[in-house]
Amino acid sequence: MTPDMSLSELSPLTPWVQACALCLGCIIGSFLNVVVWRVPRGESLLHPPSHCPNCGHAIRPWENIPVVSWLLLRGRCSGCHQPISIRYPLGELATGLVYLAVFQAAMARGLPVAVIPGHFFLLGTLISVAQIDLRHRLVPDVVTLTGMAVALLLALLLPDSHLRDGASLITSAALRLLAGQGAGALPSPLLASGLDSLLGLAAGLLLLGPLATAGTVLAVRLRRPDLTVMGWGDVKCLMMLGAFLGPDACLYILCAASCLGFAFGLLRLAVSRGRHGWSVPFAPFLSLAALAWLLAGKCW
Ligand SMILES: [Zn+2]
Repeated sequence: MTPDMSLSELSPLTPWVQACALCLGCIIGSFLNVVVWRVPRGESLLHPPSHCPNCGHAIRPWENIPVVSWLLLRGRCSGCHQPISIRYPLGELATGLVYLAVFQAAMARGLPVAVIPGHFFLLGTLISVAQIDLRHRLVPDVVTLTGMAVALLLALLLPDSHLRDGASLITSAALRLLAGQGAGALPSPLLASGLDSLLGLAAGLLLLGPLATAGTVLAVRLRRPDLTVMGWGDVKCLMMLGAFLGPDACLYILCAASCLGFAFGLLRLAVSRGRHGWSVPFAPFLSLAALAWLLAGKCW
């Protein structure tokens, strides 16, 4: 298997690769349960090892198998017999199904194998960021900055990952502008891929950065430190998305996420009869819009 090989060439192995995508997603979902609990609390992901929060019982390897262990333990800790929330196996299963769906979509569109590491890493960061933002109104830098670094690295190591569905419109225009070449000229894959990732990163900053800056200035002027128009965590989340998927995707994701967030805010305001304000966590909507992009691909 090579990075430029099309995923559609794996079709004879379809049931096996589907099972692998599902299992990998469940295992990553189990790790994300730890990330979502520990990162907002500033705890290490490695120490101490997984344990029951009630009795401190160290989780043994067979008790740590995603979904299966919860069923074998009948949803209770083997040390103190306190219930283990069903949220954990459901989160693992949902992550597995999302990984499977994204893999299927990439396979159906005949994308190169090279897109899979980026797609899977991005999904993991989005699932954790969306949950942390929903619970804590926080988008941790450690997740988004790591995501940006991984995206840039993958763009250089696996150039084919950025040339899916043809080069991005914005990146193609920038390449022609840089080289002063005609529309038919073919840029080096490495240059196209690296530029696509950098332009995506810049697009995220340029699209949301001014709004976050204006919000910060307004909060200082009005002496309202609680006032947040757009958090810098959301800006970094969009920059990370741009670094993985390029500037075209960045634009689409911001438009789709804004519409979703606006509709949700309006609905919540109406249902709660004004008890809830307009403020909604934005990262979950960015994540949903990015998932739609991963499933449907370029929409224009
Ligand atoms: Zn216990």
